[in-house]
Amino acid sequence: MSNITTEQMRFWSPEVRELDPYVPGEQPKIQNLLKLNTNENPYPPSPKVVNAVQAVLAHSADVLRLYPDPDALELKQAIAKQQNVAVENVFVGNGSDEVLAHIFKAFFVQDKPILYPDITYSFYPVYSQFFGISTKTKILPLNENFEIVVDDYKQPNGGIIITNPNAPTSIALGLSAIEEVLQANPNSVVVIDEAYVDFGAESAVALVEKYENLVVCQTTSKSRSLAGLRVGFAVAQPHLIAALEVVKNSFNSYPIDRFAIAAAVASFDDQGYFEAQNNKVIASREKLVIHLEEMGFKVLPSKANFIFASLPTKDAGELATELREKGIIVRYFNKPRINQYLRITIGTDEQNQRLVNTLKNDILN
Ligand SMILES: *Cc1c(COP(=O)(O)O)cnc(C)c1O
Repeated sequence: MSNITTEQMRFWSPEVRELDPYVPGEQPKIQNLLKLNTNENPYPPSPKVVNAVQAVLAHSADVLRLYPDPDALELKQAIAKQQNVAVENVFVGNGSDEVLAHIFKAFFVQDKPILYPDITYSFYPVYSQFFGISTKTKILPLNENFEIVVDDYKQPNGGIIITNPNAPTSIALGLSAIEEVLQANPNSVVVIDEAYVDFGAESAVALVEKYENLVVCQTTSKSRSLAGLRVGFAVAQPHLIAALEVVKNSFNSYPIDRFAIAAAVASFDDQGYFEAQNNKVIASREKLVIHLEEMGFKVLPSKANFIFASLPTKDAGELATELREKGIIVRYFNKPRINQYLRITIGTDEQNQRLVNTLKNDILN
């Protein structure tokens, strides 16, 4: 970007010249790197996923010339079954980032303010800008414990989006608090982004039948080890799903390719693997928290596959840099309120032990 001149930029749409895009966590190619910075799952996806991809591959000469199912019906059926909802309640997209973009377009582009917390998924301000509603978003501060203040969400608004468990804080909100927000806002859409819900929080999918203003968004990227596949989904009542389909079919009719459909279906069909794997991540998280607390870290209570931690005796930015020099990358946000915290993805027990040993022996000794 930096080497584009203002003169060359004259070809760009004026609006695009002003955009401030999302910056994904880096994917560096360093040997022996321990990557704890983008909340990927440390375990491989279900072996059934690999088999499903190989089955498509075996027929690729026949099928790849053909478009995939624009509705990805087989995938919607697998998700509906796993989530215990009807197919009409399911929308799928190319990663939940795309589903969220369609959600913003479908429900939030309007005159009334959109509400979300000051510390939340950093893609929301990007979408607000992209869809021309940033001046209409109202950013509501989390309290001093980084918790959502439910009463703040009882003011006039045109829509609400909450990450639950929140990112990067890892703190989960209970379903009764979410119900309070839903009941206080019968005329606006409340979106719950549940990218991390499978690591110990309660899913609001159970509330979809009861609330006509609820959209729940999830992804296969974290709890199903499929970040490389790009499949996300939303669950809501059919009148909200219909708006998402209108947006999707005005943008890209075939967002999910044949490999992705087959692989994601296989993942949803292997519930046993999914549960066992998430339980391992949760158990590793609890062990890592104990080790870090022993070293003096303050760790927020996590229901996600990452933790948000600070060390009162050491600058978090420096700590991130020193870890990087030892081949371990974690996520550091140089932003107000959270610039003394590190977001650390939960690895395998072995990986977490390497983090602990590096901190103990090489950095904090
Ligand atoms: C990772 C993440 C997403 C995006 O997930 P993809 O399906 O990989 O696009 C959405 N929301 C939150 C809060 C996330 O952390």
